[in-house]
Amino acid sequence: MKKKRLEKKKRKQVRERNWEEAHEYAFTHDLVKHRRARVKLSESAAKSNPLPKDFTPNATVVSHAKKWARVDMDGEELLCLVDERMKEGDATLLAPGDQVLVEFEGENALVRGVAPRRSKLSRPSNEESRLDEQVVAANVDLLVVVVSAAQPPFREGLVDRYLIAAERGSVDSLLCVNKMDLTEAEPPALEGYRGLGVPVLLTSCETGAGIDAFRDALRDRVSVLSGHSGVGKSSLLNALFPVLDIDTGGLSKSRRGTHTTSGGRLYSLPGGIRVIDTPGIRALGLWGVGPAEVAYYFPEIGGHATACRFRDCTHTHEPRCAVRDAVKSGAIAEARFASYLRIRASLESEQGVTPGRVSVQHSGRDLPH
Ligand code: GDP
Ligand code: ZN
Repeated sequence: MKKKRLEKKKRKQVRERNWEEAHEYAFTHDLVKHRRARVKLSESAAKSNPLPKDFTPNATVVSHAKKWARVDMDGEELLCLVDERMKEGDATLLAPGDQVLVEFEGENALVRGVAPRRSKLSRPSNEESRLDEQVVAANVDLLVVVVSAAQPPFREGLVDRYLIAAERGSVDSLLCVNKMDLTEAEPPALEGYRGLGVPVLLTSCETGAGIDAFRDALRDRVSVLSGHSGVGKSSLLNALFPVLDIDTGGLSKSRRGTHTTSGGRLYSLPGGIRVIDTPGIRALGLWGVGPAEVAYYFPEIGGHATACRFRDCTHTHEPRCAVRDAVKSGAIAEARFASYLRIRASLESEQGVTPGRVSVQHSGRDLPH
C-alpha cells in the first residue's frame, strides 16, 4: 500500500517535471499534419553540413516554439526543425516575421539561418532581468496602437509607451482611434499626436467609418495591433475580413493557452495584409530604454530641454527647467509631460541600472553564430 502510494507520488513528480515540455509537446502534435518534418535529422547529416554564412532567406517565420518553427514558404505553411547549432534557449533566436533560410535534408525541412532584422518589437524577457531582450515580432513595418474614443476612455499613458517601443525598434506607428460612433468630438489629445507626426486614423466597427482607410494602411505591410483589451482590435480585423469570423474577444484570446510560451503568430490575410498577433505585445515593457533616454522619445520635451539650466536636467525638480516652463505655458501638453514622468519613474523603479546604456544594440547582434 505504502509502496503503491510512493509510486504514485513518483509518477506525479515526473509529470510535474515535464510540465514545461507540455507546451512543446502540444505544438508537435501538429506533426500528424506535417509528416514531412517528422523524422529527426541524423547527427552525422547535421555535422557534415555546417550552417551557411551567407544566404538568401526563402521563408518567413509564422511561429516558433523551441526547436520547431512554422514557416511560410511561397504561400505554403511548413513545420521545420530548427538546426540545433543555432543558439538554443535564446528567446530571441526566432520570432514571427523573421526571414529564414530553410533547407531540405531528405524529407525534413530545416531552418538553417536567420537574416538580420530590419525592425523589431522587443520587451525585457522577464521582470527580474530587464537586460535580456525578447523579440516578440520581427521585421514589423507598422505598429497600430488601437485606442478607443470611449468605453474604455482614451488614455495617453499606454499610447506613449507603445510609441517609444515602436521607435526603439525602427517600426512606424499609427494611432487608430476606434469606437468613434460613441463620441461627438474626437479626443483633444489627438491634435498633439498629429503635431508630432503620428498618423491618426478614426474608425468605427459599428458604422464602418474609416475601415477602408484602415485596410489601406495595413496593405502590403507586416503590422502588429496593440492596445488595451476591449478597445476593438479583433473587431477591427473582423471588419476588414468578415469572412474570417475571428472570435470577438480576440484573435489572441482564442489562441491563448495553446501558444503562451512561444508567443505570437503571423497571419497572412487577403490584400497583402500580414498581421502578427502576439501576447507579448500586451505587456510590452520598454527594453533598452533607460530613464535618462525617455526624453529622447518625447521630441517636444527634447526640443525644450536644450534651454534647461542643467545639461542633465531630468525635468522633474531642477530649478530653471525650460521643459516645466513649457508645460506651464501650454507649449507642451500636460498629459504628455505626465506620461513622460510616469514612464521615467516606472523605469527608475523597475531597474537599479540603466539597460539602455549597458545593453547597446549592435546590428547583426541577433544573428546566431
Ligand atoms: P479587443 O479586446 O481589443 O480585441 O476588443 P474587441 O474587438 O473584443 O471589442 C470589445 C468590445 O467593443 C466588443 O463588445 C465590441 O463589440 C465593441 N466594439 C468594438 N469596436 C467597436 C466600435 O467601433 N464601436 C462600438 N460601439 N463598439 C465597438
Ligand atoms: Zn529641464
